[in-house]
Amino acid sequence: MTDAPAKLIDRAAKTLGPRAVITDPSEIEPWVSDWRGRVHGSSPAMLAPASTEEVVEIVRLAAEYRVPLVPQGGNTGMAAGATPPADGSAILLSMRRMNSIRSISADNRLAVAEAGVVLATLHDAVHEVGMRFPLTLGARGSCTIGGLTSTNAGGTQVLKFGTMRSLVAGVEAVLPDGSVHSGLSGLKKDNRGYSLDQLLIGAEGTLGVITAVALRLVPAIAARAVAWTGVDSPAKALELLRFLEARTQSVEGFELVPQDSLDLVLKHVPGTRAPLSGEHPWHALVEGTTADPAVDIVAELQSLLAAALRQGIIGDAVIAANEAQAEAFWKLRDTISEAERAEGQTLAHDISVSVADMPAFIVDAAAKVEAAFPGVVATGFGHLGDGNIHFHVRAGSHAAPGWYDAEGEKITHMVDDLVTAAGGSISAEHGIGQLKRAEFARLAPPARIHALRAIKHALDPLGIMNPGKLVP
Ligand SMILES: Cc1cc2nc3c(=O)[nH]c(=O)nc-3n(C[C@H](O)[C@H](O)[C@H](O)COP(=O)(O)OP(=O)(O)OC[C@H]3O[C@@H](n4cnc5c(N)ncnc54)[C@H](O)[C@@H]3O)c2cc1C
Repeated sequence: MTDAPAKLIDRAAKTLGPRAVITDPSEIEPWVSDWRGRVHGSSPAMLAPASTEEVVEIVRLAAEYRVPLVPQGGNTGMAAGATPPADGSAILLSMRRMNSIRSISADNRLAVAEAGVVLATLHDAVHEVGMRFPLTLGARGSCTIGGLTSTNAGGTQVLKFGTMRSLVAGVEAVLPDGSVHSGLSGLKKDNRGYSLDQLLIGAEGTLGVITAVALRLVPAIAARAVAWTGVDSPAKALELLRFLEARTQSVEGFELVPQDSLDLVLKHVPGTRAPLSGEHPWHALVEGTTADPAVDIVAELQSLLAAALRQGIIGDAVIAANEAQAEAFWKLRDTISEAERAEGQTLAHDISVSVADMPAFIVDAAAKVEAAFPGVVATGFGHLGDGNIHFHVRAGSHAAPGWYDAEGEKITHMVDDLVTAAGGSISAEHGIGQLKRAEFARLAPPARIHALRAIKHALDPLGIMNPGKLVP
């Protein structure tokens, strides 16, 4: 290894000062492994700029010394995209000090937040002016606007509001040559050719460092209704969603939960209880919201679910009587992964196929995987209305401790092959990072890989922006 990283660190310390250059290994160590603790990296320093100008300085030094940078926000990503390589050849670039909200405009329905702003902080700030940023997910207390943008994150409200791609009005970013792209005007109409903003969304830090983002806001919620329903199959769950959507515009959350996943949550997560008295093979969590205080959203959802019950679409339903019960229903959904981890070894696949094909896909793929790998339990849960399911395969109770390492790759190949044959995506919302790069290379159409490589090379010819991630 060259002494280039040491030279860069030295220059950065002289120009940016000690707060921006952390070299104490005990301060760096918590940030060099991925959130799931599966990939472990190393970095000789953690650079922590406080302004766009400081990011420019760092990127220029990285280009001068040919030292790669690994941008990082909250480090909650699921594909190890923010984890540096183990050989210490790259330097971690923590964006967490760039954490101010530059502006909130209820009139423009826009907020401009720096990359290091934590999602929950943004939620609270826009709520104070009667607005809402309508994207949320389990990691909202730690994940950052820069990370969410760079992974084009989804979450539980995509059904109505889309992923980050729909909610980002513009991006400010430092490009690999040290120039600054300023796209924060939030123009609704701007047809000056290729959209650099859209290229940077979902780029996983491979095309530049996002320093601030203009985000679209909607009016704050006046009330919400959360229901838990029992259904016979994923097909019936989708029928319920379409039934509701034909009659109201208020549905913004719709999550599929198999009985097997609910059983694990009830077994492992303290304080949880089943919402319905009888057993149902599948469940759908439905959330309806309104920004209009005059609308009785609970009564509306109640009467729609009663109609769905009469028509035999659902077997049973209950509406949360208060906010605490609504939160308890969501907890049953949000703690599935935690319950699976408590049960034993689990392989997670974040996949999508077309919405109409998803019900059959879940059932068929689970049967095929269980037949090919006797003893495993395969099932899908999550964002059915987006055609995005977390297809998880659990080791059976008799699996050896090394099951994950011994069988994981074979099972994942099978799942990814099934997804690809169905015209779907092996990464619906978590990105490619390091963890899915080999599968992406194996299965992506040549035209897509060629275009990705060409764009990467055009914008980052020196390869200093998060190499080894996303682009095969
Ligand atoms: C409990 C939990 C629940 C989750 N639920 C969902 C969910 O429902 N839907 C979903 O889509 N995702 C979900 N995620 C994963 C999701 O991708 C992340 O939470 C979030 O998008 C990443 O934000 P972060 O700030 O932690 O980014 P990091 O993990 O730090 O980084 C992620 C990627 O973005 C890059 N990056 C980070 N900041 C910048 C920047 N400023 N400029 C350029 N590149 C940058 C990194 O290099 C890396 O490639 C969940 C994660 C957890 C832990």
